[in-house]
Amino acid sequence: MTTPSKMQQLDVQRIRADFPVLDVEVRPGVPLVYLDSTATSQKPVSVIEAMNNYYRTQNANIHRGVHALAEKSTADYEAVRGKVAKFIGAAKGKQIIFTRNTTESINLVAFTWGRANLNKGDVVVLTEMEHHGNLVPWQMLATEKGIQLEFIPVGEDGLLDMDAYAVLMEKKPKLVSFTQMSNVLGTITPAAEIIRMAHDAGAVTLMDAAQGVPHLPTDVTELDVDFIAFSSHKMLGPTGLGILYGKEAILNEMPPFLGGGDMIKRVELSGFTYKEPPHKFEAGTPAIAEVIGLGAAIDYLEAIGMEAIFAHDHELTGYALERLEEVPGVWVFGPTIEHKSANAAFTFEGVHPHDVAEILNRAGVAVRAGHHCAQPVHQKFGITSTTRASFYLYNTKEEVDQLIEALYQVKEIFG
Ligand code: PLP
Repeated sequence: MTTPSKMQQLDVQRIRADFPVLDVEVRPGVPLVYLDSTATSQKPVSVIEAMNNYYRTQNANIHRGVHALAEKSTADYEAVRGKVAKFIGAAKGKQIIFTRNTTESINLVAFTWGRANLNKGDVVVLTEMEHHGNLVPWQMLATEKGIQLEFIPVGEDGLLDMDAYAVLMEKKPKLVSFTQMSNVLGTITPAAEIIRMAHDAGAVTLMDAAQGVPHLPTDVTELDVDFIAFSSHKMLGPTGLGILYGKEAILNEMPPFLGGGDMIKRVELSGFTYKEPPHKFEAGTPAIAEVIGLGAAIDYLEAIGMEAIFAHDHELTGYALERLEEVPGVWVFGPTIEHKSANAAFTFEGVHPHDVAEILNRAGVAVRAGHHCAQPVHQKFGITSTTRASFYLYNTKEEVDQLIEALYQVKEIFG
């Protein structure tokens, strides 16, 4: 995994001042301790203002109008494509497709590339730690096309079994689709190695970067990955916006996704022709204000630096793991800190995860409880749900201490 070359300290108090929601009291006198960024991140003022400003001063539909506002909105929307490309190390803005979320980005690949390229008996390799967003689309395609799904096993240590992966490569899969970072175990997968081995076996690769891009420096060119999918809302941007990156040659060959306005060159009653990527994958009016908000989110992340953000999240997660270990009855899932970051999912002996979350909520501590849209990985560990605390650039060690204090209250209440 990537370890930071040097530990850079974030000025967290200054960062926190940029996030208005962090000043909220969940009840009078009970300040919010937001430990749920794996579900969705909070938004800095610059993102909120960019969207607000768009609606106040330039709202217009894009690509169609010739009036001043339409031209400005089109230019601003298209400029964010270039910004996203640079942020993930992609060569060209046109390799960036805007969707609704990570889930839709992966479904786009399954429904276009998958339908065109996968046939009965073809093998698709996933991992046992996938979010449902990178599992169900392939299960749907398996039902439709008769493709065969294989899974890289997850060990007791929360790591992928790379020896088993090497054996799976002998089946000559057509696609390997895997998470860059687990939203339950926090595992940072060996992405470069997974991609290299997949390519050696002749497979196309898709990386679910929903948790990876917000927390890890990510370079698609260095990784040589074919597709990545991620969500704006997990990286300080607004909801309703996802991103799909693809290699140019593959995007050019893929059929379009949804049909309608904006993705076509010409339409007659007898048929249509479609545009080049990225437009052929973006039918209808897109999430214009959200794209502009994402641009501001990337500016914010870049100003701090992804290396520094990773170092901070990693250090805080390590601290949380140490402190969680002190609490009798708490069992944290996933690998040791060398291989994980940003979240800690745990069980509390004798107490249902929802009850844990409810008592933490009374103390203002916001965490998630449930299966986190990753039932199979819970089943693998013989459980149905966990409580998950997650950390981002605006979280502090004091907030981890508040989590631990509230967990002792759970212990008191449930004995
Ligand atoms: N993949 C992973 C690893 C995730 O953590 C999530 C969301 O939690 C998703 C996919 C789905 O993201 P979205 O709900 O934004 O489509």
